[in-house]
Amino acid sequence: MVEMTTTPRILDGIAIAGQIKAEVAVDVQALVARGITPGLAVILVGDVPASQIYVRSKVKTCGELGIFSEMLTPPESITTAEMLALVADLDAREDIDGILIQLPLPKHVDTKRLLEAVSPEKDVDGFHPVNVGRLQSGQPGLAPCTPAGIMEILRRSDLPVAGQNAVVIGRSDIVGKPAAMMLLNASATVTICHSKTNDLGKVTREADLLVAAIGRPGFVTPEMVKPGATIIDVGINRVTDAAEVEEFFPGNAERAATFAKRGSVVVGDVHPAAFALSGAYTPVPGGVGALTIAMLMQNTVTAAKLRRGISLEKK
Ligand code: NDP
Repeated sequence: MVEMTTTPRILDGIAIAGQIKAEVAVDVQALVARGITPGLAVILVGDVPASQIYVRSKVKTCGELGIFSEMLTPPESITTAEMLALVADLDAREDIDGILIQLPLPKHVDTKRLLEAVSPEKDVDGFHPVNVGRLQSGQPGLAPCTPAGIMEILRRSDLPVAGQNAVVIGRSDIVGKPAAMMLLNASATVTICHSKTNDLGKVTREADLLVAAIGRPGFVTPEMVKPGATIIDVGINRVTDAAEVEEFFPGNAERAATFAKRGSVVVGDVHPAAFALSGAYTPVPGGVGALTIAMLMQNTVTAAKLRRGISLEKK
């Protein structure tokens, strides 16, 4: 059993996202003064309730920051060819700087083909192979929002990255792989783990910086954590079982009230007991998740600037 030595620092994603959004709003004003209003188009196919919530909040944040937004809502029955035509239209439009295709798409739509159809200059999700390559080779481009948010949390919290032993659990194209690449670009020594990793706990116990992007509630237990490590919990999992909620949050009146009201609570990929051992951690909710939309807004402004050859340097 490992003893807790100090009180961990909670990394407040909501506050950091607020700072970034305020900076983006200033950037937008400067562009508007030059006659440029950054524009984001969001394509939402069908009626996936979670996607509708995400898209609504993306559109709302655009409005708050002065970014023009347009929402396209084709029906579930849309074909790949029709989606490609929609993307081509948006790609040709001068008033649209970013095109976001809300995932997941219906099974009959070829997601890979569509993501590649968005021109890299308008790919604000950073999923196009050209942007993946730019990230890998350290060139300016558009990088995926969630891992970019992780880096902002670390940077703005003055947490060291260079020289740190960073372990990323998860190798998805959306989170794990780009997070690992960004940490490597920031000179961490990076290990990527996944479902086939042998003796995962042995690897994670070496981590000064542990990123969990797995999609399994409370997967990282105290035994897997080096005391004092920084833990970044990307997971967003909905737990609907009362016994499980009590296991994760024993005696926690706030979580019990949320459960009573909504029938579920959100739990990250890290067990709350593991946070207690850390030096610093991102809570769920209120950690990494809070950053994703802020980074999308930043990417939209970056896209508007890159496409017009405007310097990204802050004055
Ligand atoms: P994926 O399902 O695409 O990837 C999960 C990764 O976890 C895979 O690489 C998988 O390994 C690995 N994994 C699964 N089980 C194990 C295991 N037992 N041991 C070790 N590794 C394992 O998920 P995402 O990357 O898209 O998302 C991860 C989490 O982050 C989810 O909870 C998601 O909701 C959340 N998320 C949060 C966002 C935010 O804004 N905060 C944005 C995006 C995601 P393998 O490759 O071998 O299968």
